[in-house]
Amino acid sequence: MELERKPVGAYRRIVVKIGSALLVDRASGLRHDWLTALSEDIAALRAAGADVLVVSSGAIALGRSVLDMPSGLLKLEGSQAAAAVGQIALARAWSSALAAHDIIAGQVLLTLGDTEDRRRYLNARATVSELLKLGAIPIVNENDTVATTEIRYGDNDRLAARVATMIGADLLILLSDIDGLYSASPSVDPEARHIPVVTAITPEIEAMAGGAASELSRGGMRTKIDAGRIATNAGCAMIIASGKDAHALAQIDRGARTSWFAPNPTPVTARKTWIAGQLTPMGTLTIDRGAERALRMGKSLLPAGVRALTGDFARGDTVAICTEEGNEIARGLVAYDAEEANRIAGCKTAEIETILGYSGRAAMVHRDDLVLTAGARQPIA
Ligand code: GLU
Repeated sequence: MELERKPVGAYRRIVVKIGSALLVDRASGLRHDWLTALSEDIAALRAAGADVLVVSSGAIALGRSVLDMPSGLLKLEGSQAAAAVGQIALARAWSSALAAHDIIAGQVLLTLGDTEDRRRYLNARATVSELLKLGAIPIVNENDTVATTEIRYGDNDRLAARVATMIGADLLILLSDIDGLYSASPSVDPEARHIPVVTAITPEIEAMAGGAASELSRGGMRTKIDAGRIATNAGCAMIIASGKDAHALAQIDRGARTSWFAPNPTPVTARKTWIAGQLTPMGTLTIDRGAERALRMGKSLLPAGVRALTGDFARGDTVAICTEEGNEIARGLVAYDAEEANRIAGCKTAEIETILGYSGRAAMVHRDDLVLTAGARQPIA
């Protein structure tokens, strides 16, 4: 696959994620002019032949503004109520901004379970694909009115990446209030370097992300890097660009400063994409160097290579697979419950039957159920 960066207009299916702070002004509410300009850019991309899907934040921020709620952190019920009011206003705004270009908008509200549970994921994918087939633009957000702390994404960066991989997008654009990834937080460190191209999400790249987030936008750089991992693993490029000025999408092709994340040149299958993008692995397997080499060569993870494990996972759950230095290099569906896995960790496959009393599977994680994550594309030192 071509790793060269292409103009935005050359991509076939584009997901555009818009941060709350771009769409909603704390004092004056919805930024109509900004939305009008962006809708023109979206219409131009469609005219160039791309499918476009929008992941729009702003429900909570807009609801707060409509309800005149005081600033500061909201309680869960407060943000759920704000989202109920804000989401209607947001959907109306999108619908009328796109209608000016004869484009129909369709509202899609998702919860975490809609992407994490395989059957619900396939269901959501069918709906979104149908909307695109009908020529409508899906306007996606998290269903914040029903989402609670334990079952929510909480940020639209990762949601957008999950949606991008769900529909086989080849480009994800995160429009936010910063024009890309920096070697350190530019507001704190004047020496911070802008990173224009990221070819692999290494531990160094993760370290650059830090944690920052403002009151209006939940996702800081951390969730953007997580989104990058999900998207690029599935063969989808990602761009982080500033959306502060009008016509933010058109400006990307006019040379605006951005960070571009190269897609994995050998993207994994749809099922593996789903495994790799799981947000909450149920446990961690720490493996030795030999197993790490085997995994990078496309082999299964055998019990012998597992040094330690954490988490109370059950057979079939997703686990993160980490090196002894703690770097996650793969995810997979584990073939044993945690208790059994603990007993056979470090043992030869031939010993499994004696230890467990039955002849279990030879691999702890079979290679068909295993996917290397982006950082693992780096050669081992
Ligand atoms: N879903 C939230 C909203 O619409 C935004 C989450 C985010 O800022 O990423 O208000």
